Amino acid sequence: MSQDSLQHSRLPDLPDIWHETLGWQPDAGHLLEFQSLYDRIVDANTQFNLTRIVEAEEFWEKHLWDSLRGVSCVLRGEVFPEGDAEKYRAIDIGTGAGFPGFPLAIARPDIEVMLLDSTRKKVNFLQQLAEELGMENIKTMTARAEKVGRQSCDRESYDLALARAVGPASVCLEYALPLLKIGGMAILYRGHWTEEETEKLSTTAAQLGGVISTVEAFTTPLTRGVRNCLYLSKIKPTPAQFPRAVGLPKQKPL
Ligand code: SAM
Repeated sequence: MSQDSLQHSRLPDLPDIWHETLGWQPDAGHLLEFQSLYDRIVDANTQFNLTRIVEAEEFWEKHLWDSLRGVSCVLRGEVFPEGDAEKYRAIDIGTGAGFPGFPLAIARPDIEVMLLDSTRKKVNFLQQLAEELGMENIKTMTARAEKVGRQSCDRESYDLALARAVGPASVCLEYALPLLKIGGMAILYRGHWTEEETEKLSTTAAQLGGVISTVEAFTTPLTRGVRNCLYLSKIKPTPAQFPRAVGLPKQKPL
């Protein structure tokens, strides 16, 4: 299919699936913003490579639904409830084309969402799109997560850190845990996942001041793809040596 014919595709309208699988229902405003996000990503993909997923149904399931499934406890207000006096801050590490942070920002406009990526082109696109959609709760930053985790303005300053498809789980944790306040939550989006991996990652989490609280396994609603989301709490300050220098977490995972 050509990019032109994709530009005008409508995202599927699947109200029952939202409700049954997320316990949350987007309103008409959310749906319009999801459609704008899709349209603009498809447009931008003709200029530079943002994502290989551009077909409407696949985009709905693998980008939109998948992003929101991981934060469904936030959408339902079980954590970081709406109406709290506190203004919650989230960071999406290695956001790429904006996932999972952009859909979260649409669904929860009361949460400030920082979209972080090391690729300037992607971040510029997201910043422009956020402005076009009037989304004042979206902030963007072009930087390496290792550097951001050492900046005093960002270290231990977020309530929620998200990482999807950014690298091995222990690498994502070394990026995420230094950025969280004590009591904050990290959500790692994974595909297949085993108990042995949970056991191994628990040791890394402890080194970084965190603990794995839940692992949720589920399947995607249209193609039954296997997914796991790991939910971690920050319980202690992260030791000053973490995150290590740029590139080291990936070269020598903890
Ligand atoms: N999270 C998105 C998703 O799930 O569709 C994008 C995933 S993409 C495969 C990984 C992204 O992480 C890329 O855009 C890359 O530039 C970014 N990235 C990788 N390592 C990073 C780091 N250390 N700091 C910031 N961004 C990073």
